[in-house]
Amino acid sequence: MGAAIRTTCAYCGVGCGIAATVTGERSVTIAGDTEHPANHGRLCSKGTHLGETTSLEGRLLHPEINGRRASWDKALDLVAKRFRDTIARYGPNSVAFYVSGQLLTEDYYVANKLMKGFIGSANIDTNSRLCMSSAVAGHQRAFGEDVVPASYDDLDETDLVVLVGSNTAWCHPVVYQRIMAARAERGAKLVVIDPRRTETCADADLHLAIRPGTDVALFNGLLAHCRTERLIDETYLSRSVDVPDDFWGKVGEGGDLWSVARTCDVPPADLRRFFDLFAANPRTVTMFSQGVNQSLRGTDQVNAILNVHLATGRIGKPGAAPFSITGQPNAMGGREVGGLASTLAAHMDFAPENVARVARFWGSDRVASKPGLKAVDLFRSIAEGRIKALWVMATNPAVSMPDAGAVRDALAACPFVVVSDCISDTDTGRFAHVKLPAAGWGEKDGTVTNSERTISRQRRLFDLPGEAKPDWWIIKEVGRRMGWVGEFAYSRPADIYREHARLSTYGNDGARLFDIGHHSAIGNADYDAMGPLRWGEKPFADGRFPTPNGRARLVPVMQMTLAAPLAKWPLTLNTGRYRDQWHSMTRTGLSPKLGTHRREPLVEIHPEDAAPRGIGEGDLARISTPQGESVFRATLNTDQRRGEIFTPIHWTDRQSTGGRTGLLPRPLVDPHSGQPGFKSTPAAACRV
Ligand code: SF4
Repeated sequence: MGAAIRTTCAYCGVGCGIAATVTGERSVTIAGDTEHPANHGRLCSKGTHLGETTSLEGRLLHPEINGRRASWDKALDLVAKRFRDTIARYGPNSVAFYVSGQLLTEDYYVANKLMKGFIGSANIDTNSRLCMSSAVAGHQRAFGEDVVPASYDDLDETDLVVLVGSNTAWCHPVVYQRIMAARAERGAKLVVIDPRRTETCADADLHLAIRPGTDVALFNGLLAHCRTERLIDETYLSRSVDVPDDFWGKVGEGGDLWSVARTCDVPPADLRRFFDLFAANPRTVTMFSQGVNQSLRGTDQVNAILNVHLATGRIGKPGAAPFSITGQPNAMGGREVGGLASTLAAHMDFAPENVARVARFWGSDRVASKPGLKAVDLFRSIAEGRIKALWVMATNPAVSMPDAGAVRDALAACPFVVVSDCISDTDTGRFAHVKLPAAGWGEKDGTVTNSERTISRQRRLFDLPGEAKPDWWIIKEVGRRMGWVGEFAYSRPADIYREHARLSTYGNDGARLFDIGHHSAIGNADYDAMGPLRWGEKPFADGRFPTPNGRARLVPVMQMTLAAPLAKWPLTLNTGRYRDQWHSMTRTGLSPKLGTHRREPLVEIHPEDAAPRGIGEGDLARISTPQGESVFRATLNTDQRRGEIFTPIHWTDRQSTGGRTGLLPRPLVDPHSGQPGFKSTPAAACRV
């Protein structure tokens, strides 16, 4: 048994450090890394049981072409040829990559460079589009750059935590443990804003079960209250924030407390209590997650939160910040390299000067000059025949995209589909012409960035199994076979990390906060030994923002009128995670202990919605939407609001014929971010 290897957890965006001790060929004992700033040794159930998930069960170990084993050379040559031929015939926008927050930053960088820098299209999007792209768009509108202006340390210094649309106790458990510690040690208050009464509400001072989709009304109402109570920080506004002429006229009135309570469908006394808590505690951290982002008004909801923090000066100070917490382990690293179709690279957008700068840096005259297709539009373009070659990396869109049935039809119709994954039989892999075996957690080597902007090393624990290869290696080999040999001459992840660091600082001149230029020449040994590093220590502490005039912006956002329920679809479907499962359970499904928490997918329904439908506790219920239907076992639950039901996202064809949440959500998106509104699909339920 060797010394413990410091690495990071495979799962959520908290990004906990792990001390892993290899005990055998594929076995490892797991402990929390006491020196990692994200968790100081804490772990949740998923991280604790990582050691139960390292077997080779279900692994893809060899390249395959049309279902038959092939050599790497043959498979890579075929991928390069089909992409090259498709581009030659139909142009660069006829191909696409769909990538993942599971990729390491080095993988992400090479994929982005190949597509945007050399193929010459921005048709690379990531499953992070489904997770936090509304936060990205909101940050860009308010701050000028996608910067999360908070860190976990703020939780140790705040007096009030407001959790919005986040079942933190289940989805970001170590963050929740820190909040609980702040309550125990410092008496910090906790308000939870969520239509569902989740486990996160158990220890809250206040739970506001707002009507879904009324977050803008709530935070505009809070803003109006702050104005009435003279809590607006006029000095901060005049020094650091642009306020549009019509801003207060549009959102500043916000409605009186009674009308806000009516819109949000919460008791006025509870709303008053929230407003009073906010007024009494200038050190406020407002954490938000998928309940805010996965909405047809997600970006406006984000900006409604940011507006309140900017207007009251609760930003850039200890214990005071808005805080978007990400779902996936490396969603933030993907944002840094430009893994979204709407960003170019290193937090740059597609402004002509940025395109020219990146073109100079990469030595390419083919750099994409405008954003590409976001996830929902990307798969729609495949269905319409405009995209003819697709490479899916480390994700399973046939399960996770909204209206997954239509996504399957698109994949079936696509002339050429490549899937690189560590799992052999995925719902998406069944549509692949070429499957490429990728390295998994414990085999990969590189960096990830967590929700608080801390870059950490993920380290290799085991030898690569079978013929599996790291994603960065697979992508660069295709790039070289497409003709860009010198441009993709990487030997190790450190080569890529150095280039990424150089690009972050290339011609930057302080215009963007994301700048890790001090790592531009990091040596291989220092990269190997690198400890956690948070970039941009306390952003905006000086009151300056990365906009052309150095000032943040209040963004006028208005509450939309909510559509009345339709007679045929009288319920509203909300979707989300279980505590002990992750995505489509390819890893957590291997752990017997994790499987005991929820053994099957349940639909949670209020008893008063269940009774008229003849649905009793434990009955099978058919949940249908305009997109599809699936059968779930019902559990009657007064923690659901009347008219709303909840199902989990994890189950796939591999585990079950029922419980298929992915078939149900509608493919409608937020107009600014392109993020799907998973939280509010019109639905119906009946007993089977
Ligand atoms: Fe892993 Fe997230 Fe749990 Fe930390 S909180 S151990 S990162 S799943």
